Amino acid sequence: MKRLVLFGPPGCGKGTQASKICGVLGIPHISTGQMLRDEHLNNPNADKALHALVAAGKLVPDELINEMVLERIEKPDCAHGYLLDGYPRTLSQALFLDTISKIDMVVMIDVGDDAIVERMAGRRICMGCGGTFNIHFLDDESTCPKCGNRLTVRPDDDPRVTRQRLLVYHEMTKPLEHYYEERGKLVRVDGMGDLDAVFSRIMSCLGIDI
Ligand SMILES: [Zn+2]
Repeated sequence: MKRLVLFGPPGCGKGTQASKICGVLGIPHISTGQMLRDEHLNNPNADKALHALVAAGKLVPDELINEMVLERIEKPDCAHGYLLDGYPRTLSQALFLDTISKIDMVVMIDVGDDAIVERMAGRRICMGCGGTFNIHFLDDESTCPKCGNRLTVRPDDDPRVTRQRLLVYHEMTKPLEHYYEERGKLVRVDGMGDLDAVFSRIMSCLGIDI
């Protein structure tokens, strides 16, 4: 059984690492950010107030997110574990999570603010396949190297939004670090360097040889 939480500042590479970890462990990747974006994309009448919060890099209300996560982890595919990405994001969410499940380990990916802003400014998302890329690694900044569709900047990757999200992160999410540390569940992983290097650091923290 592996019930994991992956957290770290927005843009630290959580999403990518989460899919890789889940691929190796064979557990579902539960991304609350993706769930919120899907909700908005699939539903043109989605709550406008909620969308404004997401686009501005602010947090959506705890009750709403808690309910969404509870519903998700009760599904049969979570019976043998899961990885939470983007949740809990506040102490109150962590307290709620403790009442509905028992988390085995919390992995924190550590990256400094300036490095985050630089990374996010270069990020592009594909309208076709949903892939994310960084312009630093692309020959053509506007075309998806996988499917040829147009690449765009996600509104919440704008540097001003990134700084705002980092502020929110430090204010609200940092207490989580102490919460899980006190409970002996926190491991910190250096998030600088390339994707594979960070991934092997995470795997070694989880005690898995790759
Ligand atoms: Zn694509």
